[in-house]
Amino acid sequence: MGKIQMTTPLVEMDGDEMTRVLWKMIKDELLLPFINLNTEYYDLGLKNRNETDDKVTFDSAYATQKYGVAVKCATITPNAARMTEYDLKEMWKSPNGTIRAILDGTVFRAPIIVKGIEPCVKNWKAPITIARHAYGDVYKASEMKIPGAGKAELVYTDEKGFETRELIHVFDGPGIIQGMHNINKSIESFARCCFNYAVDTKQTIWFASKDTISKKYDHTFKDIFQEIFDEEYKAKFDELGIEYFYTLIDDAVARVMKSKGGFIWACKNYDGDVMSDMLSSAFGSLAMMTSVLVSPDGKYEYEAAHGTVQRHYYKYLAGEETSTNSVATIFAWTGALRKRGELDENDELMTFADKLEKATIDTIESGSMTKDLALITTLENVTVLNSEDFIKAIRANLEKAL
Ligand code: NAP
Ligand code: MG
Repeated sequence: MGKIQMTTPLVEMDGDEMTRVLWKMIKDELLLPFINLNTEYYDLGLKNRNETDDKVTFDSAYATQKYGVAVKCATITPNAARMTEYDLKEMWKSPNGTIRAILDGTVFRAPIIVKGIEPCVKNWKAPITIARHAYGDVYKASEMKIPGAGKAELVYTDEKGFETRELIHVFDGPGIIQGMHNINKSIESFARCCFNYAVDTKQTIWFASKDTISKKYDHTFKDIFQEIFDEEYKAKFDELGIEYFYTLIDDAVARVMKSKGGFIWACKNYDGDVMSDMLSSAFGSLAMMTSVLVSPDGKYEYEAAHGTVQRHYYKYLAGEETSTNSVATIFAWTGALRKRGELDENDELMTFADKLEKATIDTIESGSMTKDLALITTLENVTVLNSEDFIKAIRANLEKAL
């Protein structure tokens, strides 16, 4: 059997630490033997980001705009300790932040469901996808500690110098204030990303905020979503038999708990931060969460939701055996290959992605898994495999399927 051919390159963003080790194993065992892999390679490993003054991150994002599909390995976001460890010229920004800003994208996170890794919420049967707005609110807020009695106001000065004021509070003692903002254009992009992704994955989408309390701020989010939906998406949704609805955030939380899953939950920035951690732990494991960045004009960047698994990497460097879960990274590849196949009308590539996902799930369901899953599975008599043997077990299943 000949290898599968690819017409358009996939943007490949390599990364750091244990996930970089898994990246190579996945390519060597699960991809290169079967596909004539056509990628444009960008090394986003911290060493190369530092050597290129982070230019490589920007270039990889521009390449994603050009080709439309990327797959990314987890990368280190430098902190003080990494400055010394990697002898960095600067504390380079998070690559994910840079790429997200260039693509103006929204991140969608969804768990991979397998039998034997049961969600804490027993009625959840299908994945719940969280869409998190990635701009503004409390993440770009200005704050002040109020030392004592006095008046605090919001002041907007327009370009001609005209001021509009809104009283925040008249303090009679110490306190705190916070001023936050968002931009209509960013909310509009967020709404379009969400509706496009709902259409793309044929899933109903909910959006929730607290517009009953926040009558201008949150209400603007609600209004923008509704306007864009009615004008640009309603007909398409009707055709596909999917729905969009808005509800209050507290109602959404209650409904999510009672739901069967199988929908997208669009969240404002802070809600998305909190709820995605809640969902990933309730679904079982961070190592089973996928993540895809989608731009409003339909560019896709696939990755695992977890980080570089630093603790395992130090064990690996010390020559110890590791049992690191590669499932979310494998699914980043299959997501990207399937999307590349869809855009290029390459059926073989899409079928390969399906088969690799199935081989991965079958491996776990037949009782072979990494340690993190073995600790939480409801299956009995499981075999705990090391990082490499788990990937080899998947390969054996994949070869049977091909
Ligand atoms: P992490 O890499 O997600 O790992 C945290 C812990 O979760 C691990 O120590 C491990 O627990 C468990 N874990 C995560 N993924 C796993 C997997 N695939 N298999 C098995 N266990 C897994 O988070 P972190 O240690 O806080 O961050 C490490 C680096 O990753 C940081 O430099 C951070 O900047 C970066 N990061 C990058 C991204 C990204 O690129 N998208 C996202 C988050 C963090 P045990 O040690 O208990 O086994
Ligand atoms: Mg968080």
